[in-house]
Amino acid sequence: MSTNTTSTYSDFHLQFIAGEWQTGKDDSTNTNTNPYNGDTLVEIQQATKDQLNEAYDAATQAQEAWAKQTPAARSAVLYKVVNILDQRQEEIVDWLIKESGSTRIKAMVEFGATRAITLEAATFPNRVHGEIRPSNTPSKENFIYREPIGVVAVISPWNFPLHLTQRSIAPALALGNAVVLKPASDTPVTGGLLLAKVFEEAGLPKGLLNVVVGSGSEIGDAIVEHKAPSLVSFTGSTSVGKHIGELANGGEYIKQVALELGGNSPFVVLKDADIEQAVRAAVFGKFLHQGQICMAINRIIVENEVYDEFVERFLSHVKTLQVGDPNDQGTAIGPIINEKQVQSLRDKIDEAQKEGAKMLLSGETNGQLVPPHVFTEVTREMDIAYNEIFGPLIGIIRAKNEEDALSIANDSMYGLSSAVFTADMQKGLRFARGIRAGMTHINDIPVNDESNVAFGGEKNSGIGRFNGEWVLEEFTRTHWISMQNEPREYPF
Ligand code: NAD
Repeated sequence: MSTNTTSTYSDFHLQFIAGEWQTGKDDSTNTNTNPYNGDTLVEIQQATKDQLNEAYDAATQAQEAWAKQTPAARSAVLYKVVNILDQRQEEIVDWLIKESGSTRIKAMVEFGATRAITLEAATFPNRVHGEIRPSNTPSKENFIYREPIGVVAVISPWNFPLHLTQRSIAPALALGNAVVLKPASDTPVTGGLLLAKVFEEAGLPKGLLNVVVGSGSEIGDAIVEHKAPSLVSFTGSTSVGKHIGELANGGEYIKQVALELGGNSPFVVLKDADIEQAVRAAVFGKFLHQGQICMAINRIIVENEVYDEFVERFLSHVKTLQVGDPNDQGTAIGPIINEKQVQSLRDKIDEAQKEGAKMLLSGETNGQLVPPHVFTEVTREMDIAYNEIFGPLIGIIRAKNEEDALSIANDSMYGLSSAVFTADMQKGLRFARGIRAGMTHINDIPVNDESNVAFGGEKNSGIGRFNGEWVLEEFTRTHWISMQNEPREYPF
């Protein structure tokens, strides 16, 4: 839905600290560019450590009063945010396309997911509750209180910037916390400043949401090590996530961490699968957002009997995908986020060939547009199968049988999402339960996120769960309070 009455947001060159839009005081600048055509979108003077401290002071101060507001008052702000998102959908989708290289299809998917988690979060203030537990001590009553954590540090990635930021900040705020957010350097607007505008317009009290755009070297570690946040909610790569985990627990203050990290989703096609449907799913689950999704298909594993048929049909479908301007309705594959990522994909293409994978489909890289590359006769230990790709490249592995397919699927340091295709649901369920991952989808793509269902990974894919009641636990603290109603007998 578009709006004619609201002017579009501006001033994205400023930081949002303590409820005020202010200029960054660091010497460095973030030049925010469109990954498709290189246009400069905005130049942001970055924040200093002092400004980060100011943000934390404001958050700490504002949080106490916010936690005391009625659940209805907190819900109302979240519902207002949903309304504003709806009114500004076109403006938001436009930013997702120009800043993060989202195709129109992906931008709409992301907008929908962002809206859904905001709506879900609006219900949290009234859903959070404590418990009364029995006691084995005579005359004692046990109460389990659920309280806001306090201040939450949020660090988000560039691939689904709006949604993955909102997935942390909406529940955090709904549950009575305050937030200091550092968006990814490639997406400071959609990953933070744009949401700050929306919350500000929705009437969120000053200081509760702070967006600090800064360089890793100036504020990267400081945002985690600061005394104020009791929880660090990080979404990003496994390597940075490990560093964040170490910082959060190796410094002066111990903090809780929620880590949503990298993935290597297997997509398994068993011999009784509906091959046409599996092919359609594989193409969308691999190439949506150019493959730059933590849950994107990273390995296709196909049972021997249907391998050749699958490869042939997969290839012919991939060849129909339009690569180009993400703003064009018909584009399936837009640009890669930055040149560094493009280079890492070129290295992967070279490595796959060196390791003996057969390249059945390739094409010239044009600026930051990388066309789909398909490799067959890939084995589980090859780089393209074993490591996260984050781009439109895919290797197809041949499995001897169901057991072999499961063993290959589990041969990974990651455990985020996964998928299996079969006509036999009992077999599918057995297979799914054999996979060590946080999420497995039978006869669907591994890329799924529903605001009311547990989202998260295991192994090197992270710690913690988002959405529904699982995030209620993550973003609150448990406090056991007991009441001794009669004097208790002590042994001495
Ligand atoms: P990244 O780890 O490079 O960066 C993530 C965020 O961390 C960015 O905001 C970045 O600026 C910040 N950062 C980097 N170094 C830091 C430091 N020392 N201290 C504090 N912050 C620091 O990841 P990315 O390239 O933005 O995103 C891609 C990765 O994220 C992929 O591995 C992908 O699988 C993963 N991811 C996971 C999920 C999930 O839900 N599990 C979702 C999306 C992306």
